[in-house]
Formats: sequence, structure tokens, C-alpha cells
Amino acid sequence: ALWITDDCINCDVCEPECPNEAIFMGPEIYEINPDRCTECVGHFDTPQCVQICPVNCIPVRPDRVESKDQLMEKYRQLTAAQ
Ligand code: SF4
Ligand code: SF4
Repeated sequence: ALWITDDCINCDVCEPECPNEAIFMGPEIYEINPDRCTECVGHFDTPQCVQICPVNCIPVRPDRVESKDQLMEKYRQLTAAQ
């Protein structure tokens, strides 16, 4: 899963781009729900939020490093739950 650092300028452009509705406005800046972030696996070849973010503040979350297989499994569970 990815996360948003405090370099975020609250520009609002990433939130509507997320195919998993993982991005939300937190108390101060935008945040990513790691349980919903598949790093866009299953939807797109590249993370859409990273592509669009103007300040490049969305790295991989160090405590939630996942393999492509794990991300694909998360995608399957998210779509099965819909
Ligand atoms: Fe959403 Fe994809 Fe960004 Fe994860 S990487 S927060 S799934 S847009
Ligand atoms: Fe913050 Fe980047 Fe999202 Fe803009 S695109 S709200 S700067 S994380």
C-alpha cells in the first residue's frame, strides 16, 4: 500500500482518481486507507495517485510493503465484497 506524506498540499486531484476509493481527507491532509490501496494493481499499470500528484508525496508505506500477488489478492477481495 502507498501513503501520503506531510508534503501533501491538499490539491484534491488524487482522491477522485483512485479506483478503490482508498483516498480520503484526514484531519489535516489527504490519507490512504492501506486496506483499500492495491497500488492500482487490478485496475491500472501504474498508481494513478502517484501519476497525478504535483508534489510527488505518495511513496510505498514502509510497514505495508506487499508483493504483486498480495496486491492482486487484495483487489480480488475488494471486488468480491462489492
Ligand atoms: Fe488508490 Fe491506486 Fe493510489 Fe492506491 S495507488 S491510493 S489504489 S490510486
Ligand atoms: Fe496531496 Fe498529492 Fe493528493 Fe494533491 S495529489 S491531495 S498533493 S497527495
